[in-house]
Amino acid sequence: MTISDAVREIAERGYSPARTARDPVNPAMINNWLEALGDSNPRYAAEGLAPPAMTQVWTMRGLHPRPEPDDPLSAMTAVLDEAGFTSVVATNCTQTYHRYLRHGEQVAVRSRLVDVTGPKRTALGEGWFVTTESTWYAGDEAVATMLFRILKFRPGTAAPAAPAAAAAADVLRPMVSQDTAFFWAGTARRELRLQRCEACGRLRHPPGPACPECGSTRLDHVPAAGTGTVYSYVVHHHPPVPGRKCPFVIVLVDLPEGVRMLGELVGADPAEVRIGAPVRVDFVRVDDELTLPAWRLEPGAES
Ligand code: ZN
Repeated sequence: MTISDAVREIAERGYSPARTARDPVNPAMINNWLEALGDSNPRYAAEGLAPPAMTQVWTMRGLHPRPEPDDPLSAMTAVLDEAGFTSVVATNCTQTYHRYLRHGEQVAVRSRLVDVTGPKRTALGEGWFVTTESTWYAGDEAVATMLFRILKFRPGTAAPAAPAAAAAADVLRPMVSQDTAFFWAGTARRELRLQRCEACGRLRHPPGPACPECGSTRLDHVPAAGTGTVYSYVVHHHPPVPGRKCPFVIVLVDLPEGVRMLGELVGADPAEVRIGAPVRVDFVRVDDELTLPAWRLEPGAES
């Protein structure tokens, strides 16, 4: 069977049968998740709700999952493995929440194959983009939907690196939403903006639709001083990232305002980076639509 025949056959199956979660929605799992994410919003415990971003957790298949021939992503993965596209990387994920889940609810998930495109030449190799849609239900009611896309690629077939001049056009662009538009409007003016809750004054980053402290949706922003210290960092060697030359350094910066922010450290050799090093923000203009914040080591910071 060709890949396109397999795609047609799997897509025509439509939604898979419902797969029920191992456990009902429960406060023990929610507490672990909130701690891991650093989310101290008291609303979940007080009102018996689960964080919507946790939806997928309820139907995770555990460390030793049984094969799932009914699952369209598993079926498509098997077809592409067979054809030599054995490597995988997740490329994007969009979740839509219809309502909160409550303690004690039993969740089930169903999935369908939405789209398969390829073969495409990518920086990782020749491959196919596979998009599935999953919907979570409590009883008959849909509570959340997720579009999930992976790239299944043939290892060892990476396209040659793009010339440096073309790099800017390839930069991965952030998703700009109504919650984050102020931040990107700020970077365009070389201003680093932090979201502030008008009700309780709490600053936060990254921005979101409501204050995690008090739940208020009245939010504005204040300019940051633009200084900070390196809380942690990674030196990225592989895989190649569009618009960047490997290796590059991503720093997690402690701002004096009390929030942390991720960004690229520019103008430094990866060997110069140290935890605790003072840094200052800079702005890298990509084009009229996008200016990225970046960080530079303060002169004399190397020890
Ligand atoms: Zn607040």
